Amino acid sequence: MDFSLSNEEVAFRGQVRAWVSANVPCDYGSAGWPEPLEDRERYRVMREWTQKLYDGGWAGVTWPKEYGGRGATPVEQFLFLEEIATYRTPGPISVIGVGMVGPTIMAFGRGDQKEAHLRKILSGEQIWCQGFSEPDAGSDLAALKTTAVLDGDHYVVNGQKIWTSFGPIADWCLLQVRTDTAVAKHKGLSCLLVDMRSPGIEVRPIRQITGDAEFSELFFTNLRVPRSNLLGQENDGWRVAISTLMHERVNIAALVYTQIRRDLREVVALTKRTQHRGRPLSAVPEVRQRLVRAYSVVESLRLSNLRMRAGTTAADDPGPIGSIFKLIWATTNQALLELPVDLLGPYAELLDGPDGGRAGSGLWLKRYFRSLGNSIEGGTSEILRNIIAERVLGLGRAPTRDTARVAK
Ligand SMILES: Cc1cc2nc3c(=O)[nH]c(=O)nc-3n(C[C@H](O)[C@H](O)[C@H](O)COP(=O)(O)OP(=O)(O)OC[C@H]3O[C@@H](n4cnc5c(N)ncnc54)[C@H](O)[C@@H]3O)c2cc1C
Repeated sequence: MDFSLSNEEVAFRGQVRAWVSANVPCDYGSAGWPEPLEDRERYRVMREWTQKLYDGGWAGVTWPKEYGGRGATPVEQFLFLEEIATYRTPGPISVIGVGMVGPTIMAFGRGDQKEAHLRKILSGEQIWCQGFSEPDAGSDLAALKTTAVLDGDHYVVNGQKIWTSFGPIADWCLLQVRTDTAVAKHKGLSCLLVDMRSPGIEVRPIRQITGDAEFSELFFTNLRVPRSNLLGQENDGWRVAISTLMHERVNIAALVYTQIRRDLREVVALTKRTQHRGRPLSAVPEVRQRLVRAYSVVESLRLSNLRMRAGTTAADDPGPIGSIFKLIWATTNQALLELPVDLLGPYAELLDGPDGGRAGSGLWLKRYFRSLGNSIEGGTSEILRNIIAERVLGLGRAPTRDTARVAK
């Protein structure tokens, strides 16, 4: 396959480069954005960056122009992410909205729902969270127990969600609920668009090992959701969920790939400037081997991303390749971030490390801790291996528990 860029793609990349170099604030520049920040300040910085992306027309690179997007191709979106990753910018605050909820509303929403949400997702005016997982329904998502019972023009919702990323700051939630308890578990689900400011919702932030409270538990007690906020058909929520999860795996994979590439560059720089027994760490054979191993995988992710994206549109089904990506980026990111922690030892947790306290030196441990969740979020590695065994290798269905969450 020819991986060279077309003339249009080269011109597009030039356009991105010009915008990025003029608009990434100097304090996010290649010297690193100002981590660590406490939650409120981090969200402020992320909001500011999202607004900048929106004003520049870069908030929804592949989103159709009619919804405020740029209407670019998936390959162009990838080029955009690669350019952004030359800087340590904060993530966009609307990552769930833009990467997962927006595309789901485009696919299943009525005109008035698209009108009410899509542009506001791009501008960061509406922060969304994804209310899928429950204490007893993660990999087996269809086992979820949160119920929604119709009462006149409203659904009355009772139950609990957990691990809801952005829950503490979200304005809206894409909520999976059970609307029919008498049918097979996949058949009784529905998807609701829920205003997080409604009475009957309690948000309890969960503090992680990193120190951040990125996600939360959500408790619903007689929450009333207008019937008009049903997304798609009643009892067709499973199809809606599959669509969201498919977008999650592909869109988040591209974003994370570019972060891994940036981390690799920084780890390489760290090993060059950190001395060990009179020579740089980069001269130690085991370090070199681990770096080269990581580089080989990162490069194959780059090419696979381009291969998957070439000739497709944002709406195309990527098939099981999304699962392969997710599995590979999660394991690669963990292996890569383990390296600086191994190399720096106790210094990995200090802001002023042995490398003179330059960008990121004290954040390696935090980044490593965060990477531990990579093999769980968006489908665990075990589930992804099951999918690859079943759908790519044709080995038949795994004999154990239901693999429902990631059936696509
Ligand atoms: C950082 C992070 C962010 C998240 N954000 C969100 C969010 O925004 N919204 C949301 O809804 N959820 C979110 N989640 C939750 C995530 O989707 C679930 O944690 C995940 O689906 C796994 O479910 P579980 O935790 O219930 O584990 P379980 O499904 O109970 O799995 C426990 C273990 O058993 C293994 N296992 C389960 N079934 C099988 C099987 N059939 N074969 C082999 N092994 C199996 C799993 O691989 C895992 O190791 C997030 C999780 C993390 C870590």
